[in-house]
Amino acid sequence: MQLRYDEDFLEAAVFLCASGRRPGVPSLQIARFHREREKLYSILDPDERNAAFFNLHLDWFREWGLEQPLTDVLKESPLVREQLGVLAVRKTTGKNDEGAELYVNEAGQRTGLLALRLERLIHDAALRDYLRHEFTHLHDMLDPAFGYLPELELPGLNSAQKRLARERYRLLWDITIDGRLTAAGFTPTQAYEQHAAAFARGYSFWPQPRQAQTFNSLWRTQVPRHADFLALITDPRGLREAHRPAPGASCPLCDFPTFQWADPGLLESGLVQRITTEFPNWLPGHGVCHRCWEAYQVRELADCASAA
Ligand SMILES: [Zn+2]
Ligand SMILES: [Zn+2]
Repeated sequence: MQLRYDEDFLEAAVFLCASGRRPGVPSLQIARFHREREKLYSILDPDERNAAFFNLHLDWFREWGLEQPLTDVLKESPLVREQLGVLAVRKTTGKNDEGAELYVNEAGQRTGLLALRLERLIHDAALRDYLRHEFTHLHDMLDPAFGYLPELELPGLNSAQKRLARERYRLLWDITIDGRLTAAGFTPTQAYEQHAAAFARGYSFWPQPRQAQTFNSLWRTQVPRHADFLALITDPRGLREAHRPAPGASCPLCDFPTFQWADPGLLESGLVQRITTEFPNWLPGHGVCHRCWEAYQVRELADCASAA
């Protein structure tokens, strides 16, 4: 497996060290880094200059011990090292894109992509804990026993229910990851109590003993399975409350976010029938935005008028 770095990530990472934010970087070395970097501006060819910057940044990235946590923690995941062709590391671009993802191309080559917030690089031990958690996600995605599928098949759910089901999937997966890391003697990204509380909130529609039993079996399992998660996230009981479409959720018919849902009481049977001939999987509980409701009603009235 090859470890590759995005050039923006490398540059930002060494500048974080040069700013003194990561402990243990000697100030004499920081001065040397700036001197070496200044010299590169004299290279006239832009491609050559960029390549020189990249190599300089990579040298200091290694010198300042930033690569060590990555290679150390990767050693703990033989499956990831064997199965991935490349692991590419970049910095996050937004708030919600941190973490590890897996890409498989048509030739079946697997690439891991790890997006890191720069602040993760400040504290070595916390960085290692985080990497271990993310590499376990990658491990599961690559492990045939887990049976990972990139798309969650959730037929018959409306968009609010799908979102809730995806959140539940993340919750269950993170429980099994931090449970395994704890059992192996590592520090999890979230502790047992935090996960237990989140699980109890997510499955509050179950009786307490069942909550505790299921949570503990997730926390203790050594071989989690995608199929088991799927069965748990699609439990219709907790999804019923997601039936009432949330303000700003997408209308299942026109797919536009809406804050104006049609009053379910206004959906008379003729209209429901009309919608289901065009959207066979749609159910009245999925909701319909006010504009779609009006459009269907206009057509209904027009048809009634021409029939008369
Ligand atoms: Zn996670
Ligand atoms: Zn609509």
